[in-house]
Amino acid sequence: MANLEVLTYGFALTTDQGAFGYSTNSLLTVGNHHILVDTGPASRRTVLYKALQSKGLTPDDIDIVILTHMHWDHCQNTDLFRNARILLHPTEMDYSKHPHRHDYTVARYMADHISKMKMELVSEGDTVVEGVKIIETPGHTKGHISVLVDLNGEQILLAGDAMPDGGTVVRGLPYNIFWDVKDARDSVAKMLDTSKVFYPGHDRPFKVEAGKDISYLHGPGKIEVFNSTEGGGTASLTFTVGATRKVNIDTVQKG
Ligand SMILES: [Zn+2]
Repeated sequence: MANLEVLTYGFALTTDQGAFGYSTNSLLTVGNHHILVDTGPASRRTVLYKALQSKGLTPDDIDIVILTHMHWDHCQNTDLFRNARILLHPTEMDYSKHPHRHDYTVARYMADHISKMKMELVSEGDTVVEGVKIIETPGHTKGHISVLVDLNGEQILLAGDAMPDGGTVVRGLPYNIFWDVKDARDSVAKMLDTSKVFYPGHDRPFKVEAGKDISYLHGPGKIEVFNSTEGGGTASLTFTVGATRKVNIDTVQKG
């Protein structure tokens, strides 16, 4: 019997002052195993900790962490999980130790730290525990992986940034590509062939209905941003939702 919950929901928010890196961090419970998929950015450390506490867990209770990739917004809290085996793809680990000098996305210091933890390298078809499999989904990064879960008979894909949002289904591409466009497109097609239910890297879980329609399954559809007027002045915020998002391939490296 497997159980899948989202600990912290991912969002795809950009602003004219920079982007929020809030990844989806999911908790998968299979038998005695508590498996965390991605650990999120340092800015959400307390939120992650509290989410675990609300399930009656502490970081020490997590025995397996799977990292979809080594971008800072997906792996910065990995050091919290001292008892866990840390699973990631060998290509991702190799690249993270020696990223391109202009690559601002990789948490290189976490690669060094994780190397000293109980790190295990995984690749296509590896079984993590019964009903939980690794599939390779490169393109967004060089060694990106996703996690295919047989959730009591239904195939669910924890996609990471190979499918960061619902819009990926329509675009056929994630909105950020740091390694290769063709690989990224092939990975989206592979994922859509594999499953109909997705836990994306920066959006709420959704199901793909007939064609390319998606329906969200759960998670907050509203975000509150707090500020104060103490001191007499504060920035006001506007929120505009675009119909489409241009794919960022400025930093594509393969070639
Ligand atoms: Zn990423």
